[in-house]
Amino acid sequence: MNLNLLTIDAARSAVQERKTSATALAEAYYAKIESDDPKIGAYLTLSMERAMAKAIEMDALAAKGEKLPPLGGVPVGIKDVMVTKGVRSTAGSKVLGNYIPPYDCTAVARLEAAGAVVLGKLNCDEFAMGSSNENSAWKPVHNPRDLSRVPGGSSGGSAACVAADMAVVALGSDTGGSIRQPASFCGVVGLLPTYGRVSRYGLIAFASSLDHIGPLTKTVKDTAIVLRTIAGRDPMDSTSAEVPVPDYVAELDKPVRGMKIGIAKEYLSEGLDGEVRNAVETGIQKLASLGCEIAEISLPHTKYAVPAYYIVATAEASSNLARFDGVRYGHRSKDVRTLSDMYRHSRDEGFGAEVKRRIMLGTYALSAGYYDAYYLKAQKVRTLLARDFEEAFKNVDAIVTPTSPTAAFKLGEKVDDPLAMYLADIYTVTADLAGIPGISIPCGATKEKLPIGMQILGKHFGEATILRVAHAYETAA
Ligand code: GLN
Repeated sequence: MNLNLLTIDAARSAVQERKTSATALAEAYYAKIESDDPKIGAYLTLSMERAMAKAIEMDALAAKGEKLPPLGGVPVGIKDVMVTKGVRSTAGSKVLGNYIPPYDCTAVARLEAAGAVVLGKLNCDEFAMGSSNENSAWKPVHNPRDLSRVPGGSSGGSAACVAADMAVVALGSDTGGSIRQPASFCGVVGLLPTYGRVSRYGLIAFASSLDHIGPLTKTVKDTAIVLRTIAGRDPMDSTSAEVPVPDYVAELDKPVRGMKIGIAKEYLSEGLDGEVRNAVETGIQKLASLGCEIAEISLPHTKYAVPAYYIVATAEASSNLARFDGVRYGHRSKDVRTLSDMYRHSRDEGFGAEVKRRIMLGTYALSAGYYDAYYLKAQKVRTLLARDFEEAFKNVDAIVTPTSPTAAFKLGEKVDDPLAMYLADIYTVTADLAGIPGISIPCGATKEKLPIGMQILGKHFGEATILRVAHAYETAA
């Protein structure tokens, strides 16, 4: 049995049946990290003590013959934007380089309460701002499928560690595509839940009305298991929804025959790479062969999504990041004489170029005299985008699109052109703006063997439906 290739159920039952131990499992993953991560760069901090304590607890349960919880002994990685008690949490930023949080993010606490073994914290773009992981203040992440290419971002470490067998599953965050796009670049499954489905308590904020936590896994079933574990109301996050959490795993095998799948013409237009288009079209045909009915739909405001996203996201970021002032958290400049010097120098030294760019953009968009022209306008566009989806979902059960217009690009290829990087978010930002769920699943590869992802979008709280379609696709011959 190769311990590094297990799914959640396989790992848990191997520990339960004492074919291996949770301790041996964690050790196998740490050995893999030690041998392979130097060339990938997925992990920023390892939490060995915490992991081993949990593994020992799970082994003791198994030894007594007690039933393990759903993730009993399963090694997981956590994106560094989620705070972990006693374990350094930097959000990929120098400003939080020395930050040891005093509490746990709810999603992490729920995974651990379900028996998961937290291996460590995963690399990401600074404050989750980026699409290539090249904005990490620490180091870039290399795509395990081709080390000369980016893993996507901002959850690049999360996608890479799952693809490279350095964790069974990982948590990521998605504000404009940061779970789905790296999942597609690395050939794994990534889910953006409905806004409010998973608590954001303990998620270091980028843009609060757009931020979501979700899983990256090797299989759709593993995504369903993780979502079932982390979803649901949390009194510590007032935007988490009271909506009951269905058993996503039990729903997976319900038939998809007769389901109506919408194909939006706006998502298959200019800028889409030919190989990606072919793979997604072949994916759609496969869904048709499973008995799904395919219908063309229109989401007419799609072309305004990227500009609206980069106004709303930067505006909220400029406000959220004001808290990093060198007083309450993290880096404080040594080179100061006055109070305002301390704020200025601490922020100047602590933040990277992309974060500064966004703070300035967002501050501008919110400033008196420009607020109506930019921020208010973007919010109106956001409403129109949400309405596009509402209209579409009157006639279809799910919408299939490419996840990203291209497969993984080369490291360094787009770093000097932020606008080109922003424009590539076209297929993912719409779901975050509308608050609907989406999943990216592998649907083929380019001639150069780079993974291609297909995105399935659903109605608010319609995760069970998109998981079911994704599972049918994944398991069909
Ligand atoms: N690529 C997008 C951005 O740079 C999305 C990031 C995210 O989802 N966190 O803002």
